[in-house]
Amino acid sequence: MTAEVAAPMIKASAVNKYFGDLHVLRDITLEVPRGQVVVVLGPSGSGKSTLCRAINRLEPINSGEIAVDGVPLPAEGKALAALRADVGMVFQSFNLFAHKTIVENVMLAPVKVRKTPQAEARKTAMELLERVGIANQADKYPAQLSGGQQQRVAIARALAMRPKVMLFDEPTSALDPEMVQEVLDVMTGLAKEGMTMLVVTHEMGFARRAADRVIFMADGEIVEDTTPEEFFTAPKSERAKDFLGKIL
Ligand code: ADP
Ligand code: MG
Repeated sequence: MTAEVAAPMIKASAVNKYFGDLHVLRDITLEVPRGQVVVVLGPSGSGKSTLCRAINRLEPINSGEIAVDGVPLPAEGKALAALRADVGMVFQSFNLFAHKTIVENVMLAPVKVRKTPQAEARKTAMELLERVGIANQADKYPAQLSGGQQQRVAIARALAMRPKVMLFDEPTSALDPEMVQEVLDVMTGLAKEGMTMLVVTHEMGFARRAADRVIFMADGEIVEDTTPEEFFTAPKSERAKDFLGKIL
C-alpha cells in the first residue's frame, strides 16, 4: 500500500474575486495543513475578509478553486450547506440571537441543520460553554453579557457544529480593550488543541505567540507567507515594512 498523504485542510488555487472592476483577490494560492494556525495580516481593504468569506462560500469567486479537507467547495445546494458546516466562522460582530438564551444560541444550528436531538444539543452546548468559561451564563440573554462574553458564546456556537476549520475575522476588534484577552485566551486554547485556524487580527501579540505562520496581504495579493518570527523581525517587502512601521 502507498502511504496516503492527507489533503491540506484548506486549499485555495488561483482564486480571483472581483467586485465590479475592483480586483479584490488576485490569484490567491494557499494551503493550510491540518492543525496549523495562520494569522492573516494586512492593511484595511487588502482582501482579508473577502478571503475568509470566499473560503466559507459566503462570497462567490470568479475563478479558481477552494477545497476544504480535500473536497472542492460546490457553488450551492445541499453539498454546500454540509461543507459550510465544516467551516466555523467568527466575525467582529457576534450576531447572537437577541431573543434566545445563551445556551439556545449555541444549540440552534446543531438542532436545525444537523437535526441533533434537543437533549444532546443542550448537553454539547453546555460543554462548549464550559470550555469558553461561561457555563454559568447559559440561561441569560445576549444583552445581559459583556462583549467579550458574547464573543466567547459566538465561538462556542461555531464549535457546536464540530467544524474542521475555524475562521476568525477580527474577532476582538469590536471589543473594549479589557475584554480582548479573554477571547484571545479561548482562541489560544483551541489552537493548542489542534484546531486548524485562519485568524485575521490586529493583535500582534497573538500573532507572535499563537501563529504557526503569518500571511501578509496587500491589494488582494499574498505578499508574504512566512513564520511570525521572520515576519516581525525581518519582513521582506516594502509594504510589510510599512505596515509594521505603522502598527508596532
Ligand atoms: P479587508 O478585510 O482586508 O479590510 P475586504 O476584504 O473587506 O478587506 O475588502 C477588500 C476590498 O473589497 C475593499 O476595497 C472593499 O472596499 C471591497 N469590498 C468588500 N466587500 C465589498 C462588496 N460587497 N462590494 C463592493 N466592494 C467590496
Ligand atoms: Mg476585514
